[in-house]
Amino acid sequence: MDTQFYMPVRVIEGEECVRRNAALFAPFGRRALIVTGKSSAANGSLADVTAVLDANGQAYEIFDRIPQNPTVECVREGAEIAKRCGAEFVVAVGGGSPMDAAKAIALLARQNIGDLFAQPIGNDALPMIHIPTTAGTGSEVTPYAILTRNDKETKQSISAPSLFPKIAFLDGKYTESLPQNITVNTAIDAVSHAAEGMLSSKAGAASDALARESLRILLGEYESLRAGEYSPAVRQNLLRGAALAGMVIANTGTSPVHTLGYSLTYYHGVPHGRANGLLLPAFLRRCFEKDAPLTRRIYAALGMDAEEFSEKISALLGEREKYPEKELRAWAHKASQSRKSCAVSFSEAELYEVLQEAIGYSE
Ligand code: NAP
Ligand code: ZN
Repeated sequence: MDTQFYMPVRVIEGEECVRRNAALFAPFGRRALIVTGKSSAANGSLADVTAVLDANGQAYEIFDRIPQNPTVECVREGAEIAKRCGAEFVVAVGGGSPMDAAKAIALLARQNIGDLFAQPIGNDALPMIHIPTTAGTGSEVTPYAILTRNDKETKQSISAPSLFPKIAFLDGKYTESLPQNITVNTAIDAVSHAAEGMLSSKAGAASDALARESLRILLGEYESLRAGEYSPAVRQNLLRGAALAGMVIANTGTSPVHTLGYSLTYYHGVPHGRANGLLLPAFLRRCFEKDAPLTRRIYAALGMDAEEFSEKISALLGEREKYPEKELRAWAHKASQSRKSCAVSFSEAELYEVLQEAIGYSE
């Protein structure tokens, strides 16, 4: 089978890169919709964006009501605002939630789509600039938006080439205000992206090279993650590692780790990265039993064996959640219905065993 690698996002990385590149915002149009959450007002990212737009004479509205795990209803509301204010482009500022919401808003502002999840969706969206303030999802370099779907009680991805932002600005200073738990959860999400990308049947030389480099960078900061102490250089490294891992999944997709994790998030509010961290070590152990050569390459990229990886992730996660057996069975069933490009296939019973090992039961 052919392999492909595609990365159309212009990624600009460095201190004060937003303000220093104000000229790059100008060609996007006269009016912007800024899509964000609440924290961007405090970490300097929103002020930098509005300063740049003001200096360029570009008008904007701010839609700052994006919740964690954004819903279809919320992005429809954002699209109405984009249309009403005549936005010609979208600037996303925040973690994966505002960045994903911005993509769906950009799409719905251009197209009337009744069912966002009926594939394929059209490829017309407002152009976007993304500025991450967490170091994890890599959404700034992917064509995916993950939305909460209450009708199906899950989270689901939509994807189209036009959902790739045009530009991503990576400035670690915006992540300095992240509390320890969010820093750890988001870093684990990025580790999971790199490892899951290597497991994909779509993996190729370029995505594997990025995955290895991303894991080298992210796990090189393990002691900082453990201690909760971050210099500006460490913050920048985590952001860079997460973006590289995003470039991996932009090409490979994720694995059943993510699909199983969506249930933990949907039903119990477990943060996305934490959900992946709970599941990934057990999933990899299972992969090893099914495809030892492939999984060995992933442990080599992680720079440790299965046991050390489990211990290190567990040390970051602390006490594990436990849920009733009935729920674990339902989540395994749900994940077995979802198509993934994982090179190692898992039956529903095997997915259940992963959950059993990773989560365990409560009475
Ligand atoms: P998030 O849901 O965007 O943010 C988590 C929390 O961190 C929110 O309370 C947020 O507040 C706060 N926060 C963000 N930046 C902060 C900062 N600099 N300082 C202090 N607090 C800050 O979390 P995330 O892990 O980045 O994103 C998770 C979402 O991304 C999930 O929905 C997941 O499914 C999705 N995802 C998407 C992709 C993709 O390729 N598109 C890949 C992986 C995951 P405010 O939001 O109120 O500012
Ligand atoms: Zn993820």
